Amino acid sequence: MSPVLRFAPSPTGLIHIGNARTALLNALVARRQGGTFVLRFDDTDAERSRAEYADQTEIDLAWLGIVPDLVVRQSDRMELYAEAAERLKASGRLYPCYETAEELERRRRIQLARGQPPIYDRAALTLTEDDRRALEAQGRRPHWRFRLQPRLVAWDDLVRGASHVDCASLSDPVLVREDGTYLYTLPSVVDDIALGITDVVRGEDHVTNTGVQIQLFEALGGAAPRFGHHNLLTTVSGEGLSKRSGALSLHQLAADGYEPLAVAALAVLVGSSEAVRPVADLDELASLVDLAHISRAPAKFDESELDNLNARFVHAMSYEAAQPRLEDLRIGGGEAFWNAIRANLSRFGDALRWWGIVEGPVSPEIVDKALTDAALELLPPEPWDGSTWKIWTEAVRAETGLKGRALFMPLRLALTGLDHGPELAVLLPLIGPERARERLNGEVA
Ligand code: GLU
Repeated sequence: MSPVLRFAPSPTGLIHIGNARTALLNALVARRQGGTFVLRFDDTDAERSRAEYADQTEIDLAWLGIVPDLVVRQSDRMELYAEAAERLKASGRLYPCYETAEELERRRRIQLARGQPPIYDRAALTLTEDDRRALEAQGRRPHWRFRLQPRLVAWDDLVRGASHVDCASLSDPVLVREDGTYLYTLPSVVDDIALGITDVVRGEDHVTNTGVQIQLFEALGGAAPRFGHHNLLTTVSGEGLSKRSGALSLHQLAADGYEPLAVAALAVLVGSSEAVRPVADLDELASLVDLAHISRAPAKFDESELDNLNARFVHAMSYEAAQPRLEDLRIGGGEAFWNAIRANLSRFGDALRWWGIVEGPVSPEIVDKALTDAALELLPPEPWDGSTWKIWTEAVRAETGLKGRALFMPLRLALTGLDHGPELAVLLPLIGPERARERLNGEVA
């Protein structure tokens, strides 16, 4: 059976690189195994969910190269959850509770003071029909809890191996709020069943939920999928990433000019058994995913590592791949220019800066006027090509007796205004005789 995986963000903010890790792990496992990848928006929280965030999530995933086979929104599927809730009520697994938040908090404090675990005491299970009517007559509305079986729930985690949660130590979770809206748990399980999800790969912050959810799968008569809980990405200083802060959002990383494949490779490979390195495409990245070897320690996201990886991608980029993007940026110079500059780029967009050095205006720096004056006189006749630089500098050397750095650095400073940069043999014919003359003369050109 081909696998069906899903990425299930709640559209309450911009997805960040940690969310991308989850999305990619699911999408790449599906890709590698010829399976299906579903994007499911967990948007039952009408107050916090925003259509713009959902739209942006699709754009961000597409930027990474991920186009889901199917997109579903939980807000379109409410009848399914209502129907499941009714079934659970009928089987006695979903029961009404009337405690207010303050009452629950007070009981919690008492339990803690007595050295007891702060677990919901199931007082609501002892309410009679009359008690409930009396409470409702006071204007109270019930919230609904799922009655957990007090036992160990075990599964073979795709990442962590043999895992278990002791449901006897958990409070019965609230599935339906007082106002009839659903918390994440029930819709998630209902949809995982309805969509035939075979594998749930998500952050390890969901391990406890998995214990509860496996019981819910069973209560609803569905087969539980396989689960894998990966380590979470943190900042270098160990803080969690948040959708709300917008920090390290894919949207921002795209705007900052990072290569999507560099972001994808880092998101997937950091904290895995594979070295962080450039990959040719998502298929290659998919071949490197090994859920069983993801580290248990949190994976630290280091922006300088992204800079590094991004630069490696750009340095290795063929002219064929770069050409349409250079054209979009109105950068000329052809293959020779690309090959000359690519090693000097951290981000693709830096190419503009080097093209600016060709086209000007450049403020030349004249450090050896005798040399630049001599060089000006010796500029070879047109047409200029890749051999012009060599012919010219040999003539200048013969005339001045200068060589090495003493010869080349003043020429570079005059022609580009910089003491570093791509090969001048490539830049010179692009700069052309007119601008070269002006710059050697100390004029801005
Ligand atoms: N909406 C949940 C979240 O963003 C989904 C968790 C899951 O994959 O089940 O954390």
